[in-house]
Amino acid sequence: MPTSLHDLTYPAIERALVADGLRPAHARTLWNAVQREGALALAERTEFLPPLTRWSAEHVGESARFFFDEPALTADTASSDGLTRKFLLRLADGQTVETVLMGYTGRSTACVSTQAGCAMGCVFCATGQMGFVRHLRAGEIVAQVLHVQRELRARRAAGLRNLVLMGMGEPLHNYDAVLTALEILTDDRGVALAPSRVTISTVGVVPGILRLAEEKRAFNLAVSLHSADAAERAALVPASRRWPLDELIAACREYGAKTGRRIFFEWTLIAGANDSPRHAEQVAALLAGMHAHVNLIPLNPTNGFAGTASAGAAAREFQRVLRERGLPSTVRQRRGIDVAAGCGQLRAEKARAA
Ligand code: SF4
Repeated sequence: MPTSLHDLTYPAIERALVADGLRPAHARTLWNAVQREGALALAERTEFLPPLTRWSAEHVGESARFFFDEPALTADTASSDGLTRKFLLRLADGQTVETVLMGYTGRSTACVSTQAGCAMGCVFCATGQMGFVRHLRAGEIVAQVLHVQRELRARRAAGLRNLVLMGMGEPLHNYDAVLTALEILTDDRGVALAPSRVTISTVGVVPGILRLAEEKRAFNLAVSLHSADAAERAALVPASRRWPLDELIAACREYGAKTGRRIFFEWTLIAGANDSPRHAEQVAALLAGMHAHVNLIPLNPTNGFAGTASAGAAAREFQRVLRERGLPSTVRQRRGIDVAAGCGQLRAEKARAA
């Protein structure tokens, strides 16, 4: 079975080359090419010394031991303010995933997908509405970030600063591939993202949260909460029937105790459904004593869900109640709504148009 060079950490590339009789220094050269350029004719690379050139010619390419992940760009849309770009990338097997780039100012953020489709079925989410197709490999996650970096370089913009795993899919349902991708992307010798600038988003996969706590990973954790009432949450987030709210909050408390890290709780504001002062009181009580921050995000409308975004006044009132209870929060902008910025929306639109 061929292996993507983008699936491999630096030590894994080094081990592969040394096992084939090359020197560790060759690994650095190959790693740089993998991280920066993609598959640009390896044999033509002038910085490759003869042994590496010969190794590449023999072992990299179609039907060889190793290949590159080079997703093809099939759609590229920009928001009207020019600050958000959404890319639809086609993977080798024809599946498409969305990658978003927000901002070019030196504070840019990439939002990447971790699965094709999603098994979690959140009712307001276009990806949830399409169902689960498959997990992405680490290399397919890495390749999305490399695509964003090439876009930034083309604009002579500063390098990528933040990474959020909030695109299509549930990252903790694909734990090993996601954590390998993050090991590659935070390696100082490559993309070199700071772990503190990486956010893993989860709908509440309790075993994954406990594993992150156990392994004391230095990434940010964002938990999509949406409701502090078990029955109401189960109606919005079917996965909470498998990992009930009380178990989720217990796992978050354990994560906080073991890592000392603040947890971000995401709250999609849906008019009339979860945006009343009563809901704000409930979440403040649920998270009492936890090192937490709530992100309030007005709903991105999707074709498969009848709900609408809360009005600005409701969001402000919600935030006021949280503030009074000592729970910090931020109302997030719905950036790039005109480029179908909610995850799965661009892929769904393209599928309808096809
Ligand atoms: S919101 Fe996230 S976890 Fe829920 S269905 Fe969409 S992609 Fe999956």
